[in-house]
Amino acid sequence: MNDSLRYNYKAIELVVRLKNKGIKDNQILAAIEKIPRHVFVSENLANHAYEDKPLPIDKNQTISQPYTVAFQSELLQIKPNEKVLEIGTGSGYQAAVLCEMKAKVYSIERQQQLYLKAKEVLSKLGYHPMLFYGDGYEGLPDYAPFDKILITAATKEFPKKLLEQLKIGGLMVAPIGDSNRQIMTVVKRIGADEYIESEHGAFVFVPLLKGVEE
Ligand code: SAH
Repeated sequence: MNDSLRYNYKAIELVVRLKNKGIKDNQILAAIEKIPRHVFVSENLANHAYEDKPLPIDKNQTISQPYTVAFQSELLQIKPNEKVLEIGTGSGYQAAVLCEMKAKVYSIERQQQLYLKAKEVLSKLGYHPMLFYGDGYEGLPDYAPFDKILITAATKEFPKKLLEQLKIGGLMVAPIGDSNRQIMTVVKRIGADEYIESEHGAFVFVPLLKGVEE
């Protein structure tokens, strides 16, 4: 069996596992089946890429666990053509999932090396989200407002500037808490200064950090 077929079988098995864990959105499951996750990690980890686990990437960061990617994507309730801002591009895998969901994807990464790598990998696979090297705390005021915002790193609270860049009626999803443990939280903007929150279980993410690194 050639490598790509072998990886595709593994992706199908991963999708079965995610369904068993409660992921229902078929579009998300189809995206995970299609996207070659092994391309987003270093070659020596390729054989582990279809396990439901986070894996290390460069600069001491991680590619999120597939279940977490699927769960956050489901909470976002993405519809085609929505403008979605991701904070923490990392490997670019989550951005690829959002592209498969037909969102207009904007993603910010503070580590230059990860930003450059993600750009290369995503474009080789034919995905063309708008990628930015910068501090996600600032959001992207020039492109705001966004229908949806996704934070893929742990933060003590929803950053104020990101709340301001959310459309009224829009949703932001983030793991909120200290560095050991966070609660997946959804905030809906229901008015200029009105937001409602809901909580969706405990997770562990790498921290959201201020500023950029070269
Ligand atoms: N979504 C990623 C996983 C990200 S891990 C994926 O699919 O692979 C979290 C990422 O957030 C790391 O790459 C980290 O460098 C980045 N990050 C942390 N703080 C940030 C900030 N303030 N702005 C932008 N990116 C940030």
